Amino acid sequence: MKTSVIGFPRIGSQRELKIASECYFKGSKTAAELLAVGKDLRRAHWLLQKESGLDLIPAGDFSFYDNLLDTAVMLNAVPERYRALGLDGLAEYFAMARGYQGEKGDVKALAMKKWFNTNYHYLVPELEDETKIRLNSEKILGELEEAEALGIPAKPTAIGPFTFLKLARYTGKKIAEDFADAAAAAYAELLEQLGAAGAEWVQFDEPILVMDQSPADTALFKKLYGTILKSKGSVKVLLQTYFGDIRDCWAEVTSLGFDGVGLDFVEGRENLSLLQQNGFPADKVLFAGVVNGKNIWRNHYRSTLNLLGEIGKLAQNVVINTSCSLLHVPFTVKNETKLEESCKKHLAFAEEKLLELADLKKLFGSDLPEKEPEFEANEALFRDERHGGNKTVRERVAALSEKDFTRLPAFAEREKLQKAFFRLPLLPTTTIGSFPQTADVRANRAAFRKGRITREEYDAFNRKKTAECIALQEKIGLDVLVHGEFERNDMVEYFGEHLDGFLFTEKAWVQSYGTRCVKPPIVWSDVSRRRPITVETSKYAQSLTKHFVKGMLTGPVTILNWSFPREDISLKECAFQIALAIREEVLDLEANGIRIIQIDEAALREKLPLRRADWHREYLDWAIPAFRLVHSGVKAETQIHTHMCYSEFGDIIRDIDDMDADVITFEASRSDLAILSALNECGFKTEVGPGVYDIHSPRVPAEKEITAALHKMLKKIPKEKLWVNPDCGLKTRGTEETVPSLEHLVAAAKEVRGEL
Ligand code: GLN
Ligand code: ZN
Repeated sequence: MKTSVIGFPRIGSQRELKIASECYFKGSKTAAELLAVGKDLRRAHWLLQKESGLDLIPAGDFSFYDNLLDTAVMLNAVPERYRALGLDGLAEYFAMARGYQGEKGDVKALAMKKWFNTNYHYLVPELEDETKIRLNSEKILGELEEAEALGIPAKPTAIGPFTFLKLARYTGKKIAEDFADAAAAAYAELLEQLGAAGAEWVQFDEPILVMDQSPADTALFKKLYGTILKSKGSVKVLLQTYFGDIRDCWAEVTSLGFDGVGLDFVEGRENLSLLQQNGFPADKVLFAGVVNGKNIWRNHYRSTLNLLGEIGKLAQNVVINTSCSLLHVPFTVKNETKLEESCKKHLAFAEEKLLELADLKKLFGSDLPEKEPEFEANEALFRDERHGGNKTVRERVAALSEKDFTRLPAFAEREKLQKAFFRLPLLPTTTIGSFPQTADVRANRAAFRKGRITREEYDAFNRKKTAECIALQEKIGLDVLVHGEFERNDMVEYFGEHLDGFLFTEKAWVQSYGTRCVKPPIVWSDVSRRRPITVETSKYAQSLTKHFVKGMLTGPVTILNWSFPREDISLKECAFQIALAIREEVLDLEANGIRIIQIDEAALREKLPLRRADWHREYLDWAIPAFRLVHSGVKAETQIHTHMCYSEFGDIIRDIDDMDADVITFEASRSDLAILSALNECGFKTEVGPGVYDIHSPRVPAEKEITAALHKMLKKIPKEKLWVNPDCGLKTRGTEETVPSLEHLVAAAKEVRGEL
């Protein structure tokens, strides 16, 4: 039995690619130097995979920014506005990825979207009516040849034509079907070239197959591969799926002429039963994704060997594979010097997963796997308790009942009481929480981290910033104030660090997009709150002003979604544990005189299951209650806000209303405001603050732009329910643009208020 991986992290164990790319962007590295760093990383990563005993090593999974962008370039799908700049290859590539502003013109980047249910973002290819899809195989062929020169018989990989066409945006009259023939011809030619260059296997990633398929989708899929596979010659084609199961297209996938099919047995819950019902063609190889490519825990060999045994009974040729690309896990546990060995031994990042594949291969081939030392050592990891856990927390979760999830009195009555209590003007103005994290704020944090200043000095500086921030907001004339979040670098990390049950890593970065990497915390044990977290800061900020200051918390679903979750308890149980901890904080804030509390759920939509049928039963049915659990204990006059960084919640709008917050603020300035009609149509009860300007850009909005936005909003939203605020937190902005932007916001709100 052979082993394979779908893709490998490319950013480098020390983020070498990020660092080199940023130097190139700033002009301190040349294109040739950046290309050389890429080449060195590919070499190092291939050799590591080879030395770890991996049989099928991917090539072409490397990227300077994003694989879907690479695929667009491979298919000659470069929109005219980038071609018109007349830049050379690499510069044109980065212009699409990051936008271009310089002597040759001023063009925005391609849109960016989340890659299925991960926190990785891809660039959305654009197909114009004039686009001529044509093969440009330079990158993938070059990487294959590079690998071969190192003695590595690599498996070239590319995103397949079906996923590419389904994720692309069509800017003219043409639709996906209009590009199908040209795309199929390009992929057919690619197979020929790769075969001629010595590839035995070629992998095409088609993750879109795990989403709901319409008959038209299936027809497009069949049409594309019908053509491609006709001319494939001697090269073997692997159709690789991941992130779910292929329940809608099992028959098509297994009856077309693929030589191999890759299935995810970790997230693809129905794949095993589909296999049991249908069997598997004897002439094909099943690439069985049994090593989790998304989470960081050690594989349990006993259960994986059982699963492989089951699969082996139904499919004659099996390759042991990861469930998805290892791009979604950090590079190596070896870089972690501060974690205790007792924790570290339970973790497997990309490098460790390679070793697991090798172990599984050996064990599966052994007559007596249970007698092998690898098996025994692995069993020990799962035999003993990992952590003491927290019995009280588990009992509290077990004892929860309906009333813990229900806030009383009901919304309409609360709204009345709150209007009477707060006496805010119509169209109250506020911000989302953070104020600019200026150089001095970052320097203060760095000095504290490095031990150059004491805790007291660190806190004193942040208090000073908070006082300045309150004074600034009063001067600008905002109605509901915030403390500014100077003590937080990240909205999840900050709470994770103050709760029991989380682990933090030093170098466990995962690529989020381009050169941006994140370091998600690890949920290690039962979660509980040691002591109040934000109470002192909020109390202090409130003491400085007669205006109401919002307490500012991160919600349980977002904390969980931006962490590596446990697998020994359910996501639901874990979310409820976090919710109980944040609930204590909410009640403490209330007891200390904070009357408005915002609980951010920036990532609530992110883990919505890929198939509609799973939305409620697998996710919303616990995620929405987890949020309600956080605030159900407050008094009627305590106002609960929440915030979301997107407005694409039209399809789950009732669930959002069911969170039962009093006010929700969300991103709206970049979208077409379609959400406003949806709010209107469903009679959304929660008061809303659709962002009136885009904080992702340094541009200062003119007052009349904001008045215009408000007029538009008032057409759909009753004036009693509308709040006025920016799109998101201001932490990435500078003071220079923030102050005038907020002044315009306040002036616009006053003006429109005057008209009402
Ligand atoms: N309160 C947070 C802030 O203002 C919210 C951030 C977010 O939504 N991503 O920074
Ligand atoms: Zn936001």
